[in-house]
Amino acid sequence: MPTSSDPILRPGVAVLGTGGTIAGVATGDPSLPGYTAGALGVDALLERVPALKRLAAVEAEQVANIDSKDMDVAVWCRLAQRVAHWLAQPQIAGCVVTHGSDTLEETAYFLHLVHRSSKPVVLTAAMRPATALDADGPQNLLDAVRTAISPVARGLGAVCVLQGRVHAARDVTKARADSIDAFASGERGPIGRLRGDDVEIWRRVPDEAGAPFEVPDPARWRRVDLLVSHAGADGRLLRSALRDADRPHGVVIAGTGNGTIHSEIESAMAEARAQGVRIEIASRVGPLHGGAGDGLNAVKLRVRMLLELAAAGVGA
Ligand code: ASP
Repeated sequence: MPTSSDPILRPGVAVLGTGGTIAGVATGDPSLPGYTAGALGVDALLERVPALKRLAAVEAEQVANIDSKDMDVAVWCRLAQRVAHWLAQPQIAGCVVTHGSDTLEETAYFLHLVHRSSKPVVLTAAMRPATALDADGPQNLLDAVRTAISPVARGLGAVCVLQGRVHAARDVTKARADSIDAFASGERGPIGRLRGDDVEIWRRVPDEAGAPFEVPDPARWRRVDLLVSHAGADGRLLRSALRDADRPHGVVIAGTGNGTIHSEIESAMAEARAQGVRIEIASRVGPLHGGAGDGLNAVKLRVRMLLELAAAGVGA
């Protein structure tokens, strides 16, 4: 008689490790900031959550093992390719990506924009290293797997699961650096939550205009800079970028309030536009719905511009 622990009856999940605090180990060295991110492999993270074995047939793959402050497009591309590979396997219901919290929202939005499957990709992170007594990673990982195998998560694209909440890649941001409850989705709020074993989804996020994008070939990525408007700004950073041999093809400016820009930066922007540089405005306050940045914060607007410039073959 088959039981629910037989692989044949358990849904398949691919868990892809990329590092972060969730894979962090306390250093015990007072000269270091408490722990090293990206120190444990994904297999070690899975071993810390024995309940996973009953829930799903888990495949593990280490795609990277870095502090996510150092995330780059090479890792994004490799990750997107491995996610697509796993989601194409009939026995796999969804993918989970373990990631550092610092740039989780950028990777999540990138994966969302290149996502082509109805199966979900679920990113998760932790604020405490794996070796902490009260580590938050194991529960987040369990919740992420629950979400990845849940039929209600199909068609959502990339989502982030943290602290029992499901966040849309488009809306989620790291809002606190010193709290375990670090992620928020602004005015829109999370799209769902976990209640025990159940995953509830309250709202579905509309499809992104222009997506899905292709994962760009290495030669198609273009430089997109991100600048902030602030009191006393003088436009020198933008002007000096324009003088670089590999000057940016795009610039995102995190403006003040509603996306207003210091007049000194505005004149540098006019020079940049005259040289064919694409400029888009977000707000340093956060996403403005119906305003600058198309409801995206500045880092996500930059991710989208990277993909748009690559798709358009700008500078090729
Ligand atoms: N610096 C870490 C990272 O983003 C922080 C974390 O994971 O919470 O990889």
